[in-house]
Amino acid sequence: MQFFTHRALLLVLALGLWPAVQAQSVEVPQAVVPSVGINGVNMTAQRVSTVAWYVEGLSAMGSSANQNFISNAGFVITPAGVVVIDALGSPALAEHLLAEIRKLTPLPVTHVIVTHYHADHIYGLQSFKAQGARIVAHGAAREYLQSDSARLRMEISRQELFPWIDETTRLVPADQWIDGPTELTVGGVRFLLQPVGPSHTPEDLVIYLPQDKVLFAGDLVFRNRIPYVGQADSGHWIQSLETLLTFDTALVVPGHGPLSNEAKSDMALTRDYLVYLRNCMADAATNMEPFDSAYEAVNWSRFEHLPLFGAVNRMNAYNTYLLMEREVK
Ligand SMILES: [Zn+2]
Repeated sequence: MQFFTHRALLLVLALGLWPAVQAQSVEVPQAVVPSVGINGVNMTAQRVSTVAWYVEGLSAMGSSANQNFISNAGFVITPAGVVVIDALGSPALAEHLLAEIRKLTPLPVTHVIVTHYHADHIYGLQSFKAQGARIVAHGAAREYLQSDSARLRMEISRQELFPWIDETTRLVPADQWIDGPTELTVGGVRFLLQPVGPSHTPEDLVIYLPQDKVLFAGDLVFRNRIPYVGQADSGHWIQSLETLLTFDTALVVPGHGPLSNEAKSDMALTRDYLVYLRNCMADAATNMEPFDSAYEAVNWSRFEHLPLFGAVNRMNAYNTYLLMEREVK
């Protein structure tokens, strides 16, 4: 496939020229919805394909100033209702997303599919639940929902993200827990839900729309920024990316960062970063070299120009160092 710039791609979609996805079009407006600021946060629904849209979070850490709008959410407009993918990082953002959806269709949100239970993707769930949406997620998240870390994360967020996260914000479990590949059809649109954890989290799900060859990749793919690794199982994450690289994907909506029509190279960047982290930190752990000097000795030049390198790379390396210490034993 010919590669387009993002702007050119949107133009192509707006003009209805996209060759692979025209056949089964659903009636939705052609124009990209103009941005509207609510309490200083801009959110613009951007068209992905005939049926799919997304909003793009900021490349930043969550804060009161940005309402925790640091992750993406997708939505798919079917003749029978709207399927949302991820609920954003606060109830206010979820309401904002609902307002963007309302500009495009009066149909109700029937489902919210959760790619994983990190705060920035799920603190808006209660707003969709209140509208009657059915929440679908991978069953491995149940353990996290009952954990001290989920409770502590919420307590910290109530301070750091106040007033957007407060005493009324709660963790919402799924109505439907899945434990294997699952197909969902809404209004004739097929959604393939593919578990890919434990990678970024135990409960990682990606959502693939075969009719438009669109992949909602959750946090398996970070585009144009350094991934947040945290407690991830990076070995399995790399394997999952190898699996995703075999999908027939025209467009990727990542969990963070802009829409990609260069699916393979973006997935490869995340994979290469994880492989590099693991290799460097495995050497240090094997040689019992202290973390600080090992970190200083690594040549980071391939990645240090990417956004959030300064904010997260050292922590990613440290978590990987600890993981490698356990793995090399
Ligand atoms: Zn995440």
